[in-house]
Amino acid sequence: MPHDLPKAYDPAAIEEKWAEFWVKENLFAQPAPAPGEEIRDPFTILLPPPNVTGRLHMGHMLNQTEMDILARWHRMKGEKTLWVPGTDHAGIATQMMVERQLATEGISRQALGREAFEARVWQWRDQYGKAILDQMKRLGASVDWSREYFTMDAGLSVAVREAFTRLYHQGLIYRGAYVVNWCPGCQTAVSDLEVVHEEETGKLWEIRYPVVGAPDSSSAQFLTIATTRPETLLGDVAVAIHPEDERYLHLHGKTLLLPLMNREIPIVLDTWVSRDFGTGAVKITPAHDPNDFALGQRHNLPSINVMDPTARINENGGIYQGLDRYAARKRILEDLDALGLLGTIHDHKLSVGRCDRSKDVIEPRLSTQWFVAVNKKPRNGRPTLAELATQAVMPGPDGKKPIQFTPAMYEKTYLNWMENIYDWCIIRQLWWGHRIPTWHCAQCHQITVPEPGMASDPTACAHCHGAELTQETDVLDTWFSSGLLPVSVFGWPFLGPDADGTASTDFHNFYPTTLLVTGFDILFFWVARMIMLGCWFAGDVPLPEGTKRSLAESVPFKNVYIHALVRDANREKMSKTKGNVIDPIEIVKQYGTDAVRFTLASMASPGTDIAFNVARTEGYRAFANKIWNAARFLFMNIDRAAEIGITVDPATLGGMPSLATPKPASEGFVTRQDFTRSDMEGFVTGHDFSRAENANPMDGALAPEGNAPLEARWIVAEFHKTAAEVNQSLANYRYDDAASAIYQFFWGSFCDWYLEIVKIRLDFSETADKAATKAALTTFVQVFEASLRLLSPFMPFLTEEVWHSIYGDDAPVQSIALTQYPCTDTSIDTRPIYWMSAVQKVVTAIRAQRKESGVPDKEIVPVLVHTDENRGGHAFSILPYHEQVVCYLARAASVKKSIVPLTGANIRSEAEFDIQIVYEAQIDIPAERERLTKDIAKLEKNITGAERQLGNEAFLAKAPAHVVEGLKKQEAENRLLLEKAKSALAALPPE
Ligand SMILES: [Zn+2]
Ligand SMILES: [Zn+2]
Repeated sequence: MPHDLPKAYDPAAIEEKWAEFWVKENLFAQPAPAPGEEIRDPFTILLPPPNVTGRLHMGHMLNQTEMDILARWHRMKGEKTLWVPGTDHAGIATQMMVERQLATEGISRQALGREAFEARVWQWRDQYGKAILDQMKRLGASVDWSREYFTMDAGLSVAVREAFTRLYHQGLIYRGAYVVNWCPGCQTAVSDLEVVHEEETGKLWEIRYPVVGAPDSSSAQFLTIATTRPETLLGDVAVAIHPEDERYLHLHGKTLLLPLMNREIPIVLDTWVSRDFGTGAVKITPAHDPNDFALGQRHNLPSINVMDPTARINENGGIYQGLDRYAARKRILEDLDALGLLGTIHDHKLSVGRCDRSKDVIEPRLSTQWFVAVNKKPRNGRPTLAELATQAVMPGPDGKKPIQFTPAMYEKTYLNWMENIYDWCIIRQLWWGHRIPTWHCAQCHQITVPEPGMASDPTACAHCHGAELTQETDVLDTWFSSGLLPVSVFGWPFLGPDADGTASTDFHNFYPTTLLVTGFDILFFWVARMIMLGCWFAGDVPLPEGTKRSLAESVPFKNVYIHALVRDANREKMSKTKGNVIDPIEIVKQYGTDAVRFTLASMASPGTDIAFNVARTEGYRAFANKIWNAARFLFMNIDRAAEIGITVDPATLGGMPSLATPKPASEGFVTRQDFTRSDMEGFVTGHDFSRAENANPMDGALAPEGNAPLEARWIVAEFHKTAAEVNQSLANYRYDDAASAIYQFFWGSFCDWYLEIVKIRLDFSETADKAATKAALTTFVQVFEASLRLLSPFMPFLTEEVWHSIYGDDAPVQSIALTQYPCTDTSIDTRPIYWMSAVQKVVTAIRAQRKESGVPDKEIVPVLVHTDENRGGHAFSILPYHEQVVCYLARAASVKKSIVPLTGANIRSEAEFDIQIVYEAQIDIPAERERLTKDIAKLEKNITGAERQLGNEAFLAKAPAHVVEGLKKQEAENRLLLEKAKSALAALPPE
């Protein structure tokens, strides 16, 4: 068993090496099964594809840590595990990036032309677009790199075209005029979700519109409207008033002369108009306001678009043509003022929508767009897309929800959105992306869309057979392609059987995926759209046996886990402006990936934001260091054992540790008749002894033969208990509980206690009992190796390194990640946990009293222990049989039971027992008096507090029974301690 670890734990030195190894060996590849072969219940998970322009941030790191822990856990549990990575082509972001690059060369996109520009974007992607995945590789994500995709890949692009043409011919994609949120900066329509509304201070201008035919100088000469965007006046087609507004009854049926444009426009009556806002008269500009557009439709009004895509006034704006919207506003107001048509100007708070990406003020603008009709009943009588996506989270015929949300509250958010969903605008005025597969005919001006399954572009108009066709210049919203990912990455629409059969077997084996882990911010953008499109298209794919797929078999994923937000240590949201952004790569460089992963895991639980504190990461780096040192200690002992011919057979590793080697009987066990179950109840709280419920918990602890030493039986029991807790916690996404259980076990139980005790057993002297030494060493290696496996999903690098060191070149598999995860074994004997706690309590008490009494470390002192039945202390009678351990840990010469209560100095009283250090040295009487006086005051205060609570009827009526019980018990304990302290004080010599 060769092994070699450098003296110092240096994460940088080991992490890069293993990260490269995992990728190079393609260790986490999950190949498609051979045709005819089937994978049962795989664990499949898709990486939410980061933007190809992206850099890793803390949110990614949390998301990927959570996914990686689960993927590694499932893989180690023996499930076929597939985690698919990829990137999104990110239309707007990427196009902006490349345009900026071109600008530095003095070239514009338009000058370059579409084809050359697209080539430049591909070039950019090849050069820079892998940065974020490279970061992922460095962080050790256990994804199948052989399946890496890019949303513009040929296969995925075919799926996009197929989805579009199918929906179009099913009547669910249409082209329509619509007032969109237009971003003049990005020069594209953006969805409602990408507009950030904030209240800003603006103005409300009153403008007088002359009434046609009204006599001059009469009060009825003008109708005054109020507007926050006077420049849109150029596109006004009417003014609307409420039909019952008494102020304007005389204007019914009249027309107005639009100022500056001198166009006659009607006054229309509509109940939508609010009589309380402004003057109660509203100018109507259908091309630049969604409400006006709707009103215009109702009253058959034309729409006049007065702005170009950059928000400059166009040819419909008369003399203002060419002016930017704000320059036009200024000029228009001046001109109105000059004509005496400008009325009162009010300060006005208004909600301004800005583009989330470029921060430009959104300009509502009428344009022709492509939409997915999410609420339209398809011709074949199926549910609508929105209905399907709603049913996907409701209980099915078997009472189970096809998709389960965690935390459950997001289900409600999702359903609420689905209920109020509008048609989905899927077009982007960009060059970079999937070009919309529709063709315009120059002859008849109609649209031709290829039939589904048609790979080639149409050459003739479907309506007039004309050959002059031009493809739509705009591209699809990136969410359209990423919404298809769960079906498209597994080969849809080519579900074979094709030549090698792979595409079809992939889809049939890995779809639906098991889990999606993602952030709340893209619940609607992405999660909801994957559900709509996944259910729709997968629903049309029959099962391999030819039967129709149920909804539960059509959903893109069975579970959605919405992860929390990573905030800074003060719980503030991280933002560039605040300057509190933590770069995960920097932190990783400083503390190692394992420590950062463990920090995130230790705080991650459903619905709780993470306050990332570097101090914690520092602590977990120390934890990694502790494990490293434990490994070095183990290896040192293995070497020493080898010198006297003791070796541990590697074949005994790799499973759950057990204790096959019995320890020869020790002398002096008392008989178990001394104890009863009720004696133990004082300190069994907190441990589950359900297995031993009907047995005497002291069975075995005191049996005179056939047992390994207590610490060996205890560490094995403790390990099994921890493994059960970790498995249970991970099944519930309680990363925090799982991490904490492992941490407590490894640092507390294993390093602080077990490693100390096992030193007694590792006897390599001439006179050593070699069988006992070998047994101890074997348990040590077994538990340590198994603990590494338990920790591996959380700290993959450290565990990989140490695990390989145990085996040298003889590792049974290529990686610890391919070994078996410690499972939950309910048959394990947990009673040693209970016995060991007696030893720990006494050792802790002796150590504390030694310090208190000022006993120098080098002094080995005798100790007396006293307890009695009333204090549940009988369990401590096992102590004499573990005297060697207690003496070693507490630097005691002996630990003897005292039948009579202890008197004199150097006594420490715990609830269940008292100990006394027999120490001759002068005690500091004033200090001892001060301590006891303080103790008495504290105990008295506690007792008074408890009495007050127990005397409070309201409290007693409300508090749960166990709380009241606990309080009573504690009060009794405190009374006892108070008595002890008082008599100790009285026993001190007078001043
Ligand atoms: Zn923008
Ligand atoms: Zn035509």
